[in-house]
Amino acid sequence: MSHQCKALILQCIDFRFHSAIRDFLVSLGLKDQYDLASLAGAAKGLVDKNPASVELLLQQADISKRLHGITDVYIIHHMDCGAYGGHAAFVSVEEERTKQLGDMEAARQVFGETFPGLTIHKILARIEEKDGKNKIDFEMIQ
Ligand SMILES: [Zn+2]
Repeated sequence: MSHQCKALILQCIDFRFHSAIRDFLVSLGLKDQYDLASLAGAAKGLVDKNPASVELLLQQADISKRLHGITDVYIIHHMDCGAYGGHAAFVSVEEERTKQLGDMEAARQVFGETFPGLTIHKILARIEEKDGKNKIDFEMIQ
């Protein structure tokens, strides 16, 4: 059995998103093809230069690359993230989105510089409550 997989996923710990993220990754053809790292705020600690988070995240990516030969990293941030103070921490949805996109881009640069050759993807998950249920969709960021 091959001990290789395609990608490392970096996602937030937030339980509301797990099954939706999994379904989305399956739709991208990544079923059973990814290692998974979950931290509150996903790449936030890396961007904030929290030393423990930086070491942990880069170590996970290094292990994933060496052991499983990953070629891609998917950074998945989400709106209403508690690590950022949720929606309430922002004046507007636009401001929140801009912050999330900026942090994902900063993280993409760190991963890209540390692991040249890996393709880094950025995905923003949006959440909307509808009829008492959470509706989640995903935006691939260029
Ligand atoms: Zn979160």
